[in-house]
Amino acid sequence: MSEFELYTGPLYQNALRRLDLAAETMKLDPNVAGRLKYPKRALVVSVPVRMDDGHIKVFTGYRVQHNMTLGPGKGGIRYHPAVTLSEIATFAMMMTLKCALFQLPLGGAKGGIRCNPHKMSRGEKQRMTRRFTSEISNLIGPDKDIPAPDIGTDEQVMAWMMDTYSQEVGFAIPGVVTGKPIVIGGTLGRTEATGRGVVYTIMEAAKHLNLNLDESTTVVVQGFGNVGSSAARKMAKIGCRITAISDENGGIYNAKGLNLEKVHAHLQEKKALMGFSEADAVSNEALLELPCDVLIPAAVEEQITIKNAHKIQCKILAEGANIPTTFEADQVLFDRGIFVIPDILANAGGVTVSYFEWVQGLQKYFWTEKEVNTKLFEIMSTTFQKVLEIQKQYKCNMRIAAIIGALQQLGRAMLVRGFYP
Ligand code: NAD
Repeated sequence: MSEFELYTGPLYQNALRRLDLAAETMKLDPNVAGRLKYPKRALVVSVPVRMDDGHIKVFTGYRVQHNMTLGPGKGGIRYHPAVTLSEIATFAMMMTLKCALFQLPLGGAKGGIRCNPHKMSRGEKQRMTRRFTSEISNLIGPDKDIPAPDIGTDEQVMAWMMDTYSQEVGFAIPGVVTGKPIVIGGTLGRTEATGRGVVYTIMEAAKHLNLNLDESTTVVVQGFGNVGSSAARKMAKIGCRITAISDENGGIYNAKGLNLEKVHAHLQEKKALMGFSEADAVSNEALLELPCDVLIPAAVEEQITIKNAHKIQCKILAEGANIPTTFEADQVLFDRGIFVIPDILANAGGVTVSYFEWVQGLQKYFWTEKEVNTKLFEIMSTTFQKVLEIQKQYKCNMRIAAIIGALQQLGRAMLVRGFYP
């Protein structure tokens, strides 16, 4: 795909099909639906970085703002070798929908750099982050567009972004990013927020389906990064049995349940899950098809497709990752009675606590972790119930219901603001 084929990437096309289906189902104003098919703006930047061996390598970076009707853009920064403009534009659209569904006063944006952060030194990553921030600095800002962590980035990357932006302005502007370290204005509970939010929606789904969440409940998690590991730990804490987890190199499986403390110790030492002595190896493909009650894809997009949707064996599929399921797979899962908690609902804990971080920063008044988690639980469960109601009203699946919930909010705001000029 050529760099500028913004609207033809398969992921973007899939997102458009879902948007169209939701718009048709709810009979959304066609002018609103038409506008949402395109991002507001997209910036492509070259990021020259002096590598440790002295040569300059030029990376490509992106920041896309999809819609900012409800407030400043909000969305993560991804460092991954597969990052493309079209993919980033797709995630920016999803952020618009996620923020609108949760009634956050924020718009949708996303950014990223095509690179392999695992093959870069700390110094190289820092120099790349600083130059990228400088290149996009005219787009971002606490009232304009606020980046956060995503795949391959973390609170350290956010700290470098905040520092670079602040150096350019001349004084500290913590509100330019969220997901930053506590010591420079981050919030308690942000690191685990996405995984925690996933679990809150699973608890709501279990209630709705009359399922108990206890030691007989088996849970499989694909991707053991920020989202996957937090979700797994929280599911274990409420008493469920985590039977399989994975990273990009493959997974580990123990039908009796994995001891996550021991897994953590193994991971610290070996930097990979593979080789953990109290489990069998399992591929990422096979892991998704393991029998379980709850499946949490928390890695990358398009893992559940038309090829494996009929083999998925869970009762609840909670999408920790963004777009882990393709458009065609949705219908198969729905027909098979698998209860899907769609990404814009399941993984919104991250952006919600990012919003809390932004609010606390503006007020210069910080909450306790308990306060953060209580507020998160309230908003996750209320929004889950709202989506369930919409799903019953329109007799659609949970994904289309979630998009309808977002479009109801956004559509009203777009129409009342009107189209400029
Ligand atoms: P991360 O980089 O911390 O972790 C990603 C994990 O997935 C790692 O364990 C990695 O080894 C694994 N992985 C990568 N490629 C894989 C593959 N092909 N197969 C299996 N595993 C693979 O990233 P994260 O922040 O945990 O994000 C994971 C997903 O959650 C992404 O889709 C991201 O967009 C989404 N998400 C993240 C947040 C957040 O707050 N971090 C919020 C909402 C959604």
